[in-house]
Amino acid sequence: MAGNDAAFLNTNTWDGKLFLGGWNTASAALDVLEPATGAVLTRVGMATPADVAEAAKRARAAQAGWAAMPYEQRAAIFRKAAAIIERETAGMTQWIVRETGSIPPKAGVELHAAVGILHEAAAMVTQPGGLLLPSDGGRISLARRVPHGVVGIISPFNFPLILSIRAVAPALAAGNTVVLKPDPQTPIAGGYLMARIFEEAGLPVDCLQVLPGGADVGQAMCADPSIAMISFTGSTSAGSGVGELAGKHLKKVTLELGGKNRLIILDDADVELAASCAAWGAYLHQGQICMTTGLILAHEKIVARLTELMVAKATHLPVGDPASQKVALGPLISARQRDRVHAIVQDSVKQGAHLAAGGTYDRLFYKPTVLTGVTPGMRAFEEEVFGPVASIVSYSSEDEAVELANRTIYGLSLGVISASVGRAMALANRIPTGLLHINAQTVADEPHVPFGGRGASGNGGRHGGPANWEEFTQWQWVTIKDTAPRYPF
Ligand code: NAD
Repeated sequence: MAGNDAAFLNTNTWDGKLFLGGWNTASAALDVLEPATGAVLTRVGMATPADVAEAAKRARAAQAGWAAMPYEQRAAIFRKAAAIIERETAGMTQWIVRETGSIPPKAGVELHAAVGILHEAAAMVTQPGGLLLPSDGGRISLARRVPHGVVGIISPFNFPLILSIRAVAPALAAGNTVVLKPDPQTPIAGGYLMARIFEEAGLPVDCLQVLPGGADVGQAMCADPSIAMISFTGSTSAGSGVGELAGKHLKKVTLELGGKNRLIILDDADVELAASCAAWGAYLHQGQICMTTGLILAHEKIVARLTELMVAKATHLPVGDPASQKVALGPLISARQRDRVHAIVQDSVKQGAHLAAGGTYDRLFYKPTVLTGVTPGMRAFEEEVFGPVASIVSYSSEDEAVELANRTIYGLSLGVISASVGRAMALANRIPTGLLHINAQTVADEPHVPFGGRGASGNGGRHGGPANWEEFTQWQWVTIKDTAPRYPF
């Protein structure tokens, strides 16, 4: 979209620039590519570790003033930011579609969620921020929640707007300032949309810094003395390194990582509904979602019919440029990701899985794929694919389903489909997971729910609703006496 001159999202605003104390020219520039066409969409600044130090220092200096701003003014900024998204939906949709390879409805989901998250942030500033504790007479003792200071946020490419703003908005609402590092493949949807929204909504300069950059920039954030907390969303391998580095520098760190999410279909399920759930969960946004249905466990009585329905869906879902508005699946984000997806499919077939549909690609467009006969030890069973691959596993008893479901290091999302809610709940209670959906597939999020995973899917952190207070503040114990007492010394 080079040359786009819409006033709000004018590419000249960010061409070769960082949002560091406002828009400033960077020492290096980065071309942003459209995955569907390979064309250069726009150019942004590429941050360096030195930029992190400068951004964090500025954010730290701005924090006390921001936290002290009257709550009505802070709430008004979040409400205005939400209204800007509603006003600019058409332009923002285009950026999300073209930069991330999303079909327009997925961009719509991101924008709708962003509005909800901003309204939640506006409400957060007037929520109670503490507890009155029992104490000796004449003394007030209270626990209040105080901001950490500067929060560093590192986000991935797949749902870049939601995964950035779900941390940016509550971190700010709790009185922190923010340094945000979007993925360099999606710096607009994951960063500069928010810079523009908050700039126009009246957020004081320096409260939000946006630095597109690579792993070196993220690492510099984990080590920077001005940054008190790191909120990371991304792969388990990178997250583990982030946790180690942030821990070394004694920062609070919250990690939202990968998933290999199970959809268990019991023998009493409506197979057509179950296939619809499975296809949505496996193929939405080309399977590039942390909550993607990564394994479909189907009872042996229904597995043949389920496979038949899944193959029909995979064969008919159109794949192509999402800007055409005529496809169900767009491109994968990069050739690297496509090659990884393809290698997992091919290796799984070599390991004995049956390729029932798909398994081919054109440029970055990977065909919706169905693998059957998937068993433990195969790559499709063990690894997060992050591509449009429905991996079907057959089981013969509920105990076996539980055993297969628990054979994973991850614990993000679980779906169970059955005609009996009681049966589904009893089975689900035997499987550790951060998100549980009875009679639904695995992909779901809402602004006010505590979202996050267990095991290799995270370190126990959550985003959303009540969890935002836990993540973005810390307790301070305060006692107040009218006069100082006299001690024996
Ligand atoms: P990734 O870990 O490669 O990158 C994510 C972010 O981390 C990017 O901004 C990247 O530049 C940065 N980064 C990479 N290495 C880093 C390092 N060593 N230090 C600091 N920062 C570093 O992830 P990806 O492959 O781009 O994203 C997909 C992954 O994210 C999948 O595993 C997916 O499941 C996961 N994810 C999790 C959630 C969740 O909420 N649990 C949501 C979306 C995606």
